[in-house]
Formats: sequence, structure tokens, C-alpha cells
Amino acid sequence: MTLQNTLEFAKSLDAQDELKHYRKEFIFPQHEGKDVIYFTGNSLGLQPKRARAYVDEVMDDWANLAVEGHFYANKPWWDYQERFAAPLSKLVGAKPSEVTVMNTLTINLHLLMVSFYRPTSKRYKIICEEKAFPSDQYMFQSQVTSHGYNPQEAIIEIKRREGEHNIRIEDILAKIEEVGEELALVLFGGVNYYTGQVFDMKTIVEAGHKVGANVGFDLAHAAGNIQMELHDWNVDFAAWCSYKYMNSGPGNASGCFVHERHHDSNLPRFAGWWGHNKERRFKMEPTFDPVHGADGWQVSNLPILTLAPYLASVELFAEIGMEKLIAKRNQITSYLEFILHEIDKEVDSTFEIITPSNQEERACQLSVFLHGEGRSLFDYLMKNGVITDWREPNVIRLAPVPLYTSYEDMYQFGQILKKGIVAHQ
Ligand SMILES: *Cc1c(COP(=O)(O)O)cnc(C)c1O
Repeated sequence: MTLQNTLEFAKSLDAQDELKHYRKEFIFPQHEGKDVIYFTGNSLGLQPKRARAYVDEVMDDWANLAVEGHFYANKPWWDYQERFAAPLSKLVGAKPSEVTVMNTLTINLHLLMVSFYRPTSKRYKIICEEKAFPSDQYMFQSQVTSHGYNPQEAIIEIKRREGEHNIRIEDILAKIEEVGEELALVLFGGVNYYTGQVFDMKTIVEAGHKVGANVGFDLAHAAGNIQMELHDWNVDFAAWCSYKYMNSGPGNASGCFVHERHHDSNLPRFAGWWGHNKERRFKMEPTFDPVHGADGWQVSNLPILTLAPYLASVELFAEIGMEKLIAKRNQITSYLEFILHEIDKEVDSTFEIITPSNQEERACQLSVFLHGEGRSLFDYLMKNGVITDWREPNVIRLAPVPLYTSYEDMYQFGQILKKGIVAHQ
């Protein structure tokens, strides 16, 4: 298809878009009486209209049933999280028993590291990506020091090569092999938050296992964005937040994956009563007997009010399926890329897309490095109803989300961007 930077062409793509009706399912902030152009679904997804009914249901059950709601609510609270297993496992390529929902992301990665980072004096190193999300960096440092090791020695970051924006898979594999018997854990992002680079998780898992290390992933930017086969890829563990692409609401609960082959093992874990044998949970027994499956990593009884909007969103995803979302994702991201290149030609600008151009290595997000215009251009976009985000030193991230972003948004964005660049030249 020959792409065109015109309103008519963008509208014709919208007219053919199978998912166009889902846009109406989301609430857009308004700018001068119109929906904003929302590029930050990779940071906080928009509110799905159906979320409110799910929250209201819990509020009503609480009002009408109080403690009885644990067992007699329309969706009983005591095993509410089990409603996620079927739809969520499909979205990440797992078996239902391998996923659970609890706590928040960094907390869950910490809890999973209790089980999967068991350093010894010989094998204590962690491999991660350079410029990992800061929370992950703090987590690595605190985990390593809590075990009595030196972060400078124990944490190995895979760096980008001089002059390159993305990490090469061959560099990851070479480092895993080099660290070899000293490697306890590889913990990578599935998608890098800064550049939007998608990592080849399957290959990384194989390499890590070959040298005897565990391999886990922080899927904050992957869940609801890329196709995954966590079970088949033999990933040991993973966790993701739900408020980015999964639209569950600010700071909301995290999903976890623990591979089936670990369900029978006696891995150490930090336990709590919600991980205890379901049938006997309320017998208040003194000895912990974990639920078989990812639910065995549960700790506390669940915050049902926050799970409610997450459930609404997961069901919405399940209704559509990742395949259709990914088909639109690829098309709309390519269209955005095309528009950026067109504007670049028209105004002779100096920005550069640092996200891989190869579709296999990227998903929704395009990160744009501004060599000239900088922060004032970002402010101009925000003032004109384009919500993006700014990352130091000079990057704006644009994420067209297939559930609710339109092709017309891409065209309109291009026009605003062009005016903004001209105004700042
Ligand atoms: C957003 C994000 C987080 C946030 O963690 P919380 O514990 O939910 O605050 C962690 N890691 C990555 C890679 C992220 O993108």
C-alpha cells in the first residue's frame, strides 16, 4: 500500500479499521472541545468506559453484603483473582495455572527474585539491559546487597555499541556465555521502555538456561503490546504492570507468570495466607502449604476495588485477541513512522527515530530523538492537545495504541508537529 500524508487517506484507513468501534469504549481527555491525541498509553492507558460498572459492582456488593461479599458477591472476592487466569494467560501465552494477579510490579519482581535469584559465592551475577527502568535498577542493587554482594561486581549491564541506539542480541548472548557459571539470573525487559526495542525473549531464555541461570522478564511494556509465548519459551518467571497498555488505572495491580515446571519445586518464597492451600485457607493452620501454581506466590488478600477495572480491561482484550491488535499496531505504527519521515522532509528538521525500523524489533512505540528543537517543541505539542512524554536528554515517546488511536490522529499530529517545528526554527 502506498501511504499518503493526507486527511482523506487517514480517514480511509480509519474507515477500513476493524477495531475502530473500540475507540468509543474509551474516555479521552478533552482539549478545546476535542479528544486529545493520546500517545501515552505506554505510560497510563485511557479509561475503558466499562471499567466503572465493574467498580460500582464491588461498591454495591460491599454496601449490600459487607463481609458476606467474600463468598456471596456476584463475583465473590475470596477467589476474584481466578477470573483473570483464563483471559490473561491467553494474552501472554501461558497456561491458566501459570498466571496470577497481585501487588504491584516492582514488588512482584522482588518477590519473584526471592525464589529465582539464589546467589552463591560462585554463581551470583545478574545480567540486565543498560538503561533498565530505574525501579529495576534500584531493585537489582538492593537485592544484591541484601544477599551481601557488591552491585558493582554482581550487576552486568548489556550496553549499546558506540553510536547505536539499540542493544544487539549477539551482544546479549555473548555476555551470557562469557559470564557462564557465575551467572545466577538474566532479568531483562521484554520491551525497552526508552527506545521501544523488543527483545528476542525466546533466544535469551535458551542462552541463559544453557549456562544454568534462571531467566525472567519485566513485561511492563510488553503486556498487551506484543505477542508472547511465555510457556513455550520456557521463561522462568515474569511480571508486568497493568496500567500501561492494559488500561487498568493508575498504579494498579501487576500480573505474574511462574512457569509450570517450578510449581512442584520447593523454591523458597515469601509467603502469606492468600498463597495457602485454597480449600484450607480459612482453617488458619500454622504451616504454609502453597497453592499449586502461580497463585502459590500470592501473599495478601486482594484489593478487589483495584482488580475490578483491571478485570474489565482484560476481558476487553480477550474479546479482541492479541492477533488483531497486533495487526493494527503494525499498520498504525508504520503510518506514524511514515508521517514523521514526511514532516522531516517538508521542514528539514533534525529529529531521528531511535526505535528499530524493523517491525520484528518494535511494537507500538516510536521514540524520537530531537537533535534541535528540544523541550520547547514538546511543550508546544502538549499545549496543542498532543499528549506525549519527555525523557531526558531529548526524547519524546509516541505510542499509538491500537485499541483506541485513529489514523486521523496520526495525520493531525503530523500537522501540529510541522507547525511546532517551524515555530521553533
Ligand atoms: C512502568 C515500569 C515499572 C513501574 O513499576 P511499578 O512497580 O508498577 O511502579 C517498572 N519497570 C518497567 C520496565 C516499567 O516500564
